[in-house]
Amino acid sequence: MNWTAEAEQLLEKMPAFVSDRFRKKLEDKAAQQKRTQIDSAFVKDQQGGHKHQGYPPPRVTNDPIAEAFERKYAVHAGMMGGTPCGEDFETALWREVSLPSPDIPGMAYIHIPFCSSRCHFCGFYAEVSVPDVMADYTRALIAEIKMSGRYLKEAGQTLQAVYFGGGTPTDLSGDDLSRLVQTIRSELPLSNDCEITLEGRLYGFVDKKVQAVLDSGVNRFSFGVQSFNTKIRQQVGRKQPREEVIERLNRIVDLAEPHNAAVIIDLIFGLPGQGEVDWLGDIDCAIHETGIHGLDLYQINIIPSTPLLSLKDKLPPMATLRQRGKLFSIGRKRMIDAKFERLSIAHWRRDPRERNRYNSWNKMGSNCLPLGSGAGGRWGKTRFFQQNDLKLYLAAIKNGEKPLAMGMISPDHTQVSALAVGQLEQQQLDIVALEKVAG
Ligand code: SF4
Repeated sequence: MNWTAEAEQLLEKMPAFVSDRFRKKLEDKAAQQKRTQIDSAFVKDQQGGHKHQGYPPPRVTNDPIAEAFERKYAVHAGMMGGTPCGEDFETALWREVSLPSPDIPGMAYIHIPFCSSRCHFCGFYAEVSVPDVMADYTRALIAEIKMSGRYLKEAGQTLQAVYFGGGTPTDLSGDDLSRLVQTIRSELPLSNDCEITLEGRLYGFVDKKVQAVLDSGVNRFSFGVQSFNTKIRQQVGRKQPREEVIERLNRIVDLAEPHNAAVIIDLIFGLPGQGEVDWLGDIDCAIHETGIHGLDLYQINIIPSTPLLSLKDKLPPMATLRQRGKLFSIGRKRMIDAKFERLSIAHWRRDPRERNRYNSWNKMGSNCLPLGSGAGGRWGKTRFFQQNDLKLYLAAIKNGEKPLAMGMISPDHTQVSALAVGQLEQQQLDIVALEKVAG
């Protein structure tokens, strides 16, 4: 293929690992169109689509946090397309697991789809918390963990982080939670320093349950507090007032202390009626009135199917994108002033016991085994999604099958894209490391 000098110059401005692939893509495209020459106009035309994938380019502005983007886009390593897996999903999963992956951390994500609350902004619950149903589910999950453990051990894999997410895992009984954590520890090949996180809600997480899971081996709690402001909390469906939240949180911090377990909370900015004073009040409350070891500051995610949109006219207004940019900036400054250490764009810690392994590694595209109904994960080049219909999940487990509903082979660029996303989360971009991964 004949390249004009201007077209070659455009390619030379790109890093080598991008330009090599882009050159091939352009030549394939030109051949399809029966072109004999590639000129700068053709490169720019293809580059536009390549660079932005249909999104408008960012605006050039002096206030990029508030103004650069037209709207919030999901940037997640797992969302980068792919092709459906052609073979049986279970065969594909265990084949991927059997391949050595010494440089990539291994993890497991365990989904608990139950929740007794219905927060207006939430799109993550699937099932109402009914004790008998949750007990049946726990039995099935234990069977799935045992089956998966055999494959992981045979392959010589080690897991360095396990995350119980939901839904609300703390809605399970203390006995069920203990049995699950004990099964994880006895049946899965965990590293000695494995991070075991239990996500949940403070309401209903009584001392006996907290003690039971700590004694079983949980070493990290993540609670979705969202706001300490009683009025703002109740507007979005949270039950406890500020005083109860603080009291419960500090009690759990005390119980966690002898186990050196970390207690982390999430706070949301951009909730209905939440202004700058309310937001800084939430952050100050977390820093000065609780003993938490780390926190996430993240912006409201408006999920179309949730009541937050249908109740929009009855609730006070939510912050615009520009206002959320301001809330992010003042929150960041508050955390720096309080001498918290920044582990990622939204995550901060005050104590080194908080490691944030699961969340950091997940964004970098690490291997993660999905367990439970509705769980998602990835191993090697393939992403896997588990059956989210509870009846079908239980039936598959009864038949001794891994309840996978979908497998997607990630596109070739995934590894390098995930590394770039992970690096950006840590506020850096290491082109040399990216080139090394791209090969
Ligand atoms: S407690 Fe958590 S999982 Fe349950 S509805 Fe609220 S945000 Fe969603």
